[in-house]
Amino acid sequence: MIWNPSIESLSRDELCFRQGHELRSVVERVYHNVAFYRDKMQRLGLTPDDIRSIEDLKKLPFTTKEDLRETYPFGLFAVPMDQIVRLHASSGTTGRATVVGYTRRDIQIWSEVVARCLAGAHATSKDMIQVAYGYGLFTGGLGLHYGAEKIGASVIPISGGNTRRQIQLMRDFGTTVLACTPSYALYLAETLQEMGIARSELKLRTGIFGAEPWTEGMRREIEERLGIKALDIYGLSEVIGPGVACECLERNGLHIQEDHFVPEIIDPTTLEVLGPGMPGELVFTTVTKEGLPLLRYRTRDLTRLDMAPCGCGRTLARMHKCLARSDDMLIIRGVNVFPSQVESVLLEIAGVAPHYVLVVDREHNLDNLTLMVEVDEHVISDNVGQLESWTAKVHHALESALGIGIVVKLVEPRTIERSEGKAKRVIDKRKL
Ligand SMILES: [Zn+2]
Repeated sequence: MIWNPSIESLSRDELCFRQGHELRSVVERVYHNVAFYRDKMQRLGLTPDDIRSIEDLKKLPFTTKEDLRETYPFGLFAVPMDQIVRLHASSGTTGRATVVGYTRRDIQIWSEVVARCLAGAHATSKDMIQVAYGYGLFTGGLGLHYGAEKIGASVIPISGGNTRRQIQLMRDFGTTVLACTPSYALYLAETLQEMGIARSELKLRTGIFGAEPWTEGMRREIEERLGIKALDIYGLSEVIGPGVACECLERNGLHIQEDHFVPEIIDPTTLEVLGPGMPGELVFTTVTKEGLPLLRYRTRDLTRLDMAPCGCGRTLARMHKCLARSDDMLIIRGVNVFPSQVESVLLEIAGVAPHYVLVVDREHNLDNLTLMVEVDEHVISDNVGQLESWTAKVHHALESALGIGIVVKLVEPRTIERSEGKAKRVIDKRKL
């Protein structure tokens, strides 16, 4: 099911022509309305006339999260505030929040791209969509909400939290599509079991999960426990929010809404543009946005692009599932460690629930990595010898996957804090 076939199945040539046209327009707008971009372009010796087609994208300057923080709160906005109808902001746990603004047209575009994602998951006006992403300054809740209304579905704007109530309404209202973070989906599955509600009492069919990286193993776990198809949705508030890209039912990469968000893959160190299929950092230029258009925004997400048409009939480029971020990477004793690597290993070992947290500490100038991981109840009730062999198994598997020493501590079920939003996987106690 394709929401907007005239765009989603456009030929590559036609799409590039369209992107080039929009790029020229956005460059004009930021050059004349945003001092930050005018200065940056002038330093590179560029004027809007130097940008003729999408091929010229690589001449333009990059934008980073730090740029947004330094121009806090509205320094990169390209329209007067009376045209801004909505503000969202990142949680800003470290330093200033990142503030994003939308015009009325930006909100329409956002609804359109989320509608495309939902249609890709075969959601229709007949569906009951439970939006369990947080509502508020976070873009998750309202982003899904507007898209779900656009396709004409019945929306349950329950937001995150109140887990037992979520399940009660899911059963009573007959929810067919669930949207939340993948870690919260697992928490909901656990709670369902605890409440003694049979899967057959639910009409749930599909889940649209995002806002944090999750592995194929976690997908299997969610699908088995909830008895649904789980799809990955991608987005970030700086670009628009959820809906920048989403999997179709082929589940062979996430289709990027390229007519609005032009992707590039760069080498995060040299900043060179890499060819199709090469892994690197994902960069977006928001060619149609009015409130906060960004040129070559560095997402820090590591992935690769596949430009080949998809079995679903869409021609929009697909990004490989994002499993790592260049800034989530932990450097421990000089070795790069991604939390997602740990998750993959844990999921390979049956019986180890994917609830874990990594603790990094520094003692006598030496980094120590400790994994706290929950074990299944049936394992914990067994004898001590068996527990020890479990620990050894996890320990061995992790050391060979990561290439560094790690301390493994098995903990009792439900001792690791559950998240109703993005799961916290790393506690870094080092004073770096
Ligand atoms: Zn597809």
